[in-house]
Amino acid sequence: MADRLSGKTALVTAAAQGIGRATALAFAAEGAEVMATDINLDRLEELSGTPGISLRRLDVMDPQAVNSLAAEMPPLDVLCNVAGFVHNGTILDCPEEDWDFSFDLNVKSMYRMIRAFLPAMLENGGGSIVNMASVASSLRGLPNRFVYGASKAAVIGLTKAVAADFIKQGIRCNCICPGTIESPSLDDRINAFDDPVAARKAFIARQPIGRLGTPEEIAGMAVYLASDVAAYTTGTAMIVDGGVTL
Ligand code: NAD
Repeated sequence: MADRLSGKTALVTAAAQGIGRATALAFAAEGAEVMATDINLDRLEELSGTPGISLRRLDVMDPQAVNSLAAEMPPLDVLCNVAGFVHNGTILDCPEEDWDFSFDLNVKSMYRMIRAFLPAMLENGGGSIVNMASVASSLRGLPNRFVYGASKAAVIGLTKAVAADFIKQGIRCNCICPGTIESPSLDDRINAFDDPVAARKAFIARQPIGRLGTPEEIAGMAVYLASDVAAYTTGTAMIVDGGVTL
């Protein structure tokens, strides 16, 4: 336990599993008071009793729920937008409803969350916003990641725009671009292949470092960006990818 975030309040979306869960746990271990949110209450409740962590169901696609949580909570020091979905396929596999769903969950949710929580952060004198992007974005085109890559490129643009607009008011806004990270949804994606063992090998082969990343390795970057150690860092897209973009 360290104290890089002691005295800070934080909210993490998609905290029931994967990167979001590791981030909520890392924030709490660094001394933050964390509101861990997700739509999957059963999995979220596995965090119940963790010191520093409160739990709440939050669907980031529900504007009313987002706004009422923002109205209820004290100002945040750290807002960490993790919720996202990986659509598999090319542009030809992406009908309009899939495009709309991916952009709603991966991008518009961040617009919604920031619009709801930013006013109190500004009144409070500032804060740090951390958004989860991906190397599949404006950084790299990866096969079968058409709408995912487009939406995560939008996350990088959204991050830089917010950073530019509020830099003089104490708000920092950064995003993280992970490579392939072990998570329950990655397991689902791998198990959907006819040959999951070969699929896992192919995912690993994409990472020059020779292995997949861990959620904790992404959470470590989120802690850095959330903390005052990163006070001079805003508008960046931090790459944590095992060399995918080398
Ligand atoms: P995951 O995909 O395993 O879990 C996603 C979580 O999001 C689940 O707990 C789910 O219940 C929650 N969720 C889904 N819809 C929601 C909604 N409407 N409101 C609130 N919560 C909702 O987690 P992961 O793989 O760690 O991915 C987390 C983030 O990191 C995503 O934005 C993803 O795009 C990004 N990312 C992941 C990887 C990877 O390889 N795992 C790589 C790069 C970026």
